[in-house]
Amino acid sequence: MPKPTRALVAGNWKMNGLRGSLKEVRLLAGMLNGVSLNCDILVCPPATLLPSMASLVRGTRIVLGGQDCHSAQAGAHTGDISAAMLKDAGAKACIVGHSERRSDHGEGDDLVQAKASCAHDSGLTAIICVGENLQQRESGETLDVVTRQLIGSIPASATSGNTVIAYEPVWAIGTGLTAMPQQVAEVHAGIRAKLCEILGDEEGDSVRILYGGSVKPSNAVELMGTDEVNGALVGGASLKAADFIGIIKAYA
Ligand code: PEP
Repeated sequence: MPKPTRALVAGNWKMNGLRGSLKEVRLLAGMLNGVSLNCDILVCPPATLLPSMASLVRGTRIVLGGQDCHSAQAGAHTGDISAAMLKDAGAKACIVGHSERRSDHGEGDDLVQAKASCAHDSGLTAIICVGENLQQRESGETLDVVTRQLIGSIPASATSGNTVIAYEPVWAIGTGLTAMPQQVAEVHAGIRAKLCEILGDEEGDSVRILYGGSVKPSNAVELMGTDEVNGALVGGASLKAADFIGIIKAYA
């Protein structure tokens, strides 16, 4: 069966970063020079920084992504950003269905699916986030929740080339708690099986499945070495080049 050939380490800056933070990306590009890595590197800054960051990363190994997009490509949606706009600003990918969007903005699977579809239509890779909250984990519902989210959020346009799944247990995001490798392996195996059901074995086996939730340099090697983990989605530790490189080097 084909396996994802190249891991992906993606940084999600969330609502952090002013122009002064561009220096972190400049630093990161410098740190990556001459380092041999078996992973792709993505930074998802706030949309305000995308165009200037796009100029900075040109010719480097860093590619850029958006953190969210609207489910329409244009129109009367004050304050929103479309996948086409992200693409135009230099993005190659877009996160959709992050748990902070699901909880802050009440986004459900149908909307996440429509957003992922729009990302695909614009030529962006959709990074679709799924994950259980603490109460769901404690009551043994983790796999049911994640499966439901996958079925509801993956659009018909999904392929292994345009879709990445990020498993992010909500209780591990920004809390300093990480899932244990055994827990991660279990859920990733469940996601892999479901992807094969939805997309067929060949495609399902090739989709990259990232782990996210308090990944840091000190736990990256263990987490990235866990079965069926094909990279990381990193929040807090992606803001400083010195921390992010420590995670990326799990693939050195
Ligand atoms: C995230 O924002 O997707 C995330 C995993 O955050 P953190 O790494 O800070 O837990």
